[in-house]
Amino acid sequence: METTSTPTHCPYCALQCGMNITPLPRGGVEVTERPDFPVNRGALCGKGRTAAQVLSPALRLTAPLVREGDRLVPASWEEALDRIAGALSAVRACHGADAVGVFGGGGLTNEKAYALGKFARVVLGTSQIDYNGRFCMSSAAAAGTRAFGLDRGLPFPLADIPRTGCVILVGSNLAETMPPSLRFFSELRENGGTLIVVDPRRTRTAEQADLHLAPRPGTDLALALGLLHLVVAEGRTDEEFIRERTAGWEEARAAAMAHWPEYVERITGVSVPELREAVRMFCAPESAMVLTARGPEQQSKGTDTVGAWINLCLATGRAGRPLSGYGCLTGQGNGQGGREHGQKADQLPGYRKLDDPAARRHVAEVWGVDPDALPGPGRSAYELLDALGTDVRALLLMGSNPVVSAPRAAHVEQRLRSLDFLAVADVVLSETAELADVVLPVTQWAEETGTTTSLEGRVLLRRRAVAAPPGVRSDLHVLHELAARLGVEKGFPTDPEEVFGELRRASAGGPADYSGITYRRLAEENGVFWPCPEPPAADGSPAGTDRGPSADGGGATASGTAVHPGTPRLFLDRFATEDGRARFVAVAHRAAAEEPDAEYPLLLTTGRVVAQYQSGAQTRRVAELNAAAPGPFVELHPRLAARLGAAEGDPVAVVSRRGRAVAPARITAAIRPDTVFMPFHWPGEGRANTLTNPALDPVSRMPEFKTCAVRVEVL
Ligand code: SF4
Repeated sequence: METTSTPTHCPYCALQCGMNITPLPRGGVEVTERPDFPVNRGALCGKGRTAAQVLSPALRLTAPLVREGDRLVPASWEEALDRIAGALSAVRACHGADAVGVFGGGGLTNEKAYALGKFARVVLGTSQIDYNGRFCMSSAAAAGTRAFGLDRGLPFPLADIPRTGCVILVGSNLAETMPPSLRFFSELRENGGTLIVVDPRRTRTAEQADLHLAPRPGTDLALALGLLHLVVAEGRTDEEFIRERTAGWEEARAAAMAHWPEYVERITGVSVPELREAVRMFCAPESAMVLTARGPEQQSKGTDTVGAWINLCLATGRAGRPLSGYGCLTGQGNGQGGREHGQKADQLPGYRKLDDPAARRHVAEVWGVDPDALPGPGRSAYELLDALGTDVRALLLMGSNPVVSAPRAAHVEQRLRSLDFLAVADVVLSETAELADVVLPVTQWAEETGTTTSLEGRVLLRRRAVAAPPGVRSDLHVLHELAARLGVEKGFPTDPEEVFGELRRASAGGPADYSGITYRRLAEENGVFWPCPEPPAADGSPAGTDRGPSADGGGATASGTAVHPGTPRLFLDRFATEDGRARFVAVAHRAAAEEPDAEYPLLLTTGRVVAQYQSGAQTRRVAELNAAAPGPFVELHPRLAARLGAAEGDPVAVVSRRGRAVAPARITAAIRPDTVFMPFHWPGEGRANTLTNPALDPVSRMPEFKTCAVRVEVL
């Protein structure tokens, strides 16, 4: 085992905080501060500080498991891999290539996401691949692409936030999800800027705001339209910017003018004076930003909702300029990179589109296959899960736990149980892995080298710091072995740097161009922002050749060969559309897919708590985190609690059209009286996603996690 300290990054959220990992002489690992990484400057939340505990063999899988009747029993790697290859072959032979599905995760490194997408299309020949990032940010990605021609979560570094004039933070509780990032917002206020938080709950983030707007869940679209209406009515539009750098304003303007303030107040519950104050705060300074997260995105109209916030930025000239713009706060560790390199149903590496003939030709050439042999776009994540056991009969799943994290989770669990065959590769025996026919124990963050792309679009090298326990192998090894067993001997290397070299070639010329990024550069430069194309080589060496680290963070390698510096800030000269103009999109308010009625009179919204991460598969195994957040709860406003007769800690059942979840009541004035809140990290009877609505956004295919109709029963 290595004994020196290794600089690396946290395995959890998209902030990808820097940390040092040091193996201890008597075993175990210590996580220490790494002040040189500019995003967190040494700060870590409790999840990051305790992340190394999940490296312990006592908390994770260390041997493959195969199903024998009702039980999973240990097996050799050979037997486990043979069983998977045999089952996938048999299903494919009987039912066709699309009867085999693949489900990935936003926590997989870029190399794994790339290899998984290639494995699905080249080895299995299936179109049926998607990943859990579809549940995370796909509405923001769709809206960003529609408006700007390109989706990169943040088009500027987080370090720009303290220097802008105002930030509207929509549906994000950073105090719980990414605590170290709050520093940028406190510095913004110290510098005289203002923070507006839009959230139905008075969260710990909202408490720090200069203005908190608490709309009814599912009405953020109307709120953004109401603000734009006031911008127009008060003559605060930036006509020169609209004329010079955008298209489609008249239609968007007309749509916004149909949402007058009193109408928006009735829909959202946000008063007209609050709307006016928000417009004043947003428009007064020279620069401003809007940042969205899951609140506005996880809706059946998420793409239009984000589009309405982008319209507000464009109409006021707060986009494509220094210290101004729209950004999405991506959630999962590699949520950004995971959506760029081919594990999404409609994508090829480099953020290319699978239905684009030129993209297919380029990637097929890198892969050494016939472009016509590549399948077309497949189903989105929920649609794929919903099809399990029907025309999708076998599933290979990597790094995801949909039994806890998918909407309408009891139904998804039942679909997983109805499969002919389920193989899961994971670090721990998650609730989904418990249902599998074969479970493969794989290496995790500190045990393997790989790249991730943070919410800033900063590509990072997450270095191997410790040896994995015996019996554990990497996801890349799994794909290599399965490909060989399925007749593809070449093209699936196990060395991550070799995979990254191929990813660079596959991404070259695409929207997310990584061709100028090398492991050596990443090791030297604390990350490189994409797009980072590789300039033509002076010596004629082909794209993807490692030309060494740059001498000064850009400009030239140590040997003098030119390199691209990367792109921390996008759109300053032009947007990524064909004509360089950003696009307004005319959008109108519409109701949520499910509104309250006599039987289900309340709204449910879901979210996270600071001590747990996503489905909790890793963090629920850490004693310190469990002590801080031992289980689910139901937030009720005191007036609602009094009406129901519920006291603090009383077990209550939350019931929706999809099922029932039971958890103790937590009574707080921080939530609206018409809304209840549950965190979604736990399985079993307190599983919040038993209740959530899988109604999909028509563009992004993102489910409506953030609002559904429920009733509450005191037990
Ligand atoms: Fe940083 Fe996120 Fe890890 Fe917490 S979970 S330490 S905020 S990367």
